[in-house]
Amino acid sequence: MKKLQVFADNLWFHESLHFFSGVVMFFIIFKLFGQSGYGLIAFLVSLLIDTDHYLEGLICNRFKISWIFTSYPHIYWQKTGKITLLFHSWELLVIILILGQTFNQQLLSIAIVLPAILHYSIDQIVYSSFRKMSLFQYFFIFRLYHKFNYQILCPRHMDTGN
Ligand SMILES: [Zn+2]
Repeated sequence: MKKLQVFADNLWFHESLHFFSGVVMFFIIFKLFGQSGYGLIAFLVSLLIDTDHYLEGLICNRFKISWIFTSYPHIYWQKTGKITLLFHSWELLVIILILGQTFNQQLLSIAIVLPAILHYSIDQIVYSSFRKMSLFQYFFIFRLYHKFNYQILCPRHMDTGN
């Protein structure tokens, strides 16, 4: 179990989980819809969901790109005291499905929502196990209710080890 903690502690190990889950999603969506374009979208969604950390981190670090390679996102969460995670919201998936239905883009919406469910599930398993993350963490409403407070939303962080 201790060994698996690397998937919570190390950015590259963690992102590699999303990379491989993205490859799996590519094949699932490709098999389901018979179009590699949707598979590619599913692969990209698997990876790009985490751009919310990076975009916010870049803003907090005044667009110093090198930041991405030197610190883990929790560093800026500690600095700002807020954890927003906009792309990690179950509510967003409901909105995407409704939009897909409204604009007759059901396949596209499924190619976005399925990899997102897998991404959230991977994060949930990793961070619930090693960071005591709440099961409600990826509900936007839950984070809003806690005013995005880092201390409440992320009770066990890496450097304190508590
Ligand atoms: Zn994530």
